Amino acid sequence: MSETSPKLRAVLDDIPTYKPGKPAAADGPIAYKLSSNENPYPPLPGVLESALAAAHGFNRYPDMACTGLMNELAERFGVPVTHLATGTGSVGIAQSLVQSTAGPGDEVMFAWRSFEAYPIITQISGAAAVKVPLTAGAVHDLDAMAEAITDRTRLIFVCNPNNPTGTVVRRAELERFLDRVPSDVLVVLDEAYIEFIRDSGVPNGIEIYRDRPNVAVLRTFSKAYGLAGLRVGFAIAHEPVAAALRKTAVPFGVSQLAQDAAVASLRAEDELLGRVGSLVCERTRVYDGLTAQGWTVPETQANFVWLGLGERTVEFAAACEKAGVVVRPFPGEGVRVSIGEAEANDLFLRTAETFFKEKF
Ligand code: PMP
Repeated sequence: MSETSPKLRAVLDDIPTYKPGKPAAADGPIAYKLSSNENPYPPLPGVLESALAAAHGFNRYPDMACTGLMNELAERFGVPVTHLATGTGSVGIAQSLVQSTAGPGDEVMFAWRSFEAYPIITQISGAAAVKVPLTAGAVHDLDAMAEAITDRTRLIFVCNPNNPTGTVVRRAELERFLDRVPSDVLVVLDEAYIEFIRDSGVPNGIEIYRDRPNVAVLRTFSKAYGLAGLRVGFAIAHEPVAAALRKTAVPFGVSQLAQDAAVASLRAEDELLGRVGSLVCERTRVYDGLTAQGWTVPETQANFVWLGLGERTVEFAAACEKAGVVVRPFPGEGVRVSIGEAEANDLFLRTAETFFKEKF
């Protein structure tokens, strides 16, 4: 009998692998993980209590409709429950959005470089990825994106602020772009970092989605809310998009623990705002520190900064790691550094200063 392997879909060949941020070393000098845009604070008040209570029901499946969380979200954001869908992190919903709209022969567009999951989930769907380069200032080039739309375009991601550059698109340019997108093409405003925005010119996607049926907003509890490990995110979209998301979601994908923790986090908004405010202050300190040292840093509205180090990327990441801070290198392009606790940011700033003095 000849040995053959099971036939796998050809589109799975050469899918880029998702590279998670490297963990801090378990041994050696104290190391800080600034590689995954996580929140350095522990869960918000009430979250651990809700988690312990949920633990008593681990023998049961979670509420598949996420009723409590959906009701809380509807009230908090002033949207109908029928316009909501939850998922295993916003990346899970992003994948459902692509699967709901695109397949072989279709195109999914996004800026590049942007969130590294976009090309992966596009390739899995069988659709073609259309990557539109960021401008020289590392910002979405919305004019070039509008020009790249074809009759095969099915979905366009706009990551605002953009991961990994932290840059934003503002209201007028976004509206102008949306006016150019055909109404049967879905535009996904990925707002994973929205809570960190302080630039009042940047719109809240929920205001934009209200009278644009082809706009969906993607949010997560992983960043500002500090629940990255629990895997819960949500989308706000009109019917039939929201209904398609609920249909394509993995059944019981969001655990009861995650649902209850998300509700508790929404109810701790004062604390949330305080913590986000502190991280934004730290961001300003890091940004100002870097520019004072001589670095060119794109203006960031997220919980990370971008250093376009080009061919020095890997060397810089190694210097940081040696000093005890793990950052996220994109070889040949640059390094993304999350804003962490003050000591971690201090250590990073000292390392960046030494590197700049020695190499530039
Ligand atoms: N969108 C963007 C822009 C991100 O940076 C991330 C996390 N790296 C996500 C979505 C996914 O986050 P999660 O799945 O944890 O909600």
